[in-house]
This record gives sequence, structure tokens and C-alpha cells, in this order.
Amino acid sequence: MKAKKIPSRICVGCREPKEKRSMVRVVKTAENNVCLDETGKMNGRGAYICKNTECLLRALQSKGLERSLKTNIPEEVIHKLKEEMSAVEAR
Ligand SMILES: [Zn+2]
Repeated sequence: MKAKKIPSRICVGCREPKEKRSMVRVVKTAENNVCLDETGKMNGRGAYICKNTECLLRALQSKGLERSLKTNIPEEVIHKLKEEMSAVEAR
């Protein structure tokens, strides 16, 4: 039996492939805003992170997220992303 291909993405935090639905997309918009894109449909350059704060922190510490999005992420945006991630995680 052939296994069904499950859409997966590499997490920029832990660098492991995960199912898309267990991840959250971080997007850089045309206005250069960086935010969590829970719908996965926002326009802009995107990166995927597991739905947990640990992977978000790893992605930030390693600068992997900034590299993926090709932008610098200011402190206040990092703060906002952490809050958004803990809200997603709590669900
Ligand atoms: Zn991860």
C-alpha cells in the first residue's frame, strides 16, 4: 500500500520536517511586517515553525527565521511573535 503524501515543511527552529497542520507560518508582508499567518494564505515570504514557543525561540536565536525571511526582526516584533505563538500553543 502506498503511503499518502502528507504535506510537510521544515521547521526553521528544530529543522525537522513536520506536517503542515502542526505548524504555523510566519510571513513577511509587502509592508515588511513580520507576523504569524494562521491561515497560511497571506502574501509574502513565509517560513514554517512548529506550533510551540521552543521552536520559535530556536528559530530566533539561530537567526534562522531572519535568514528565511531575509529581514531583520526588531525586538518589539519578536515580543509580539512570542505572544502570538503562546496564544496558538494554548489552543
Ligand atoms: Zn520545530
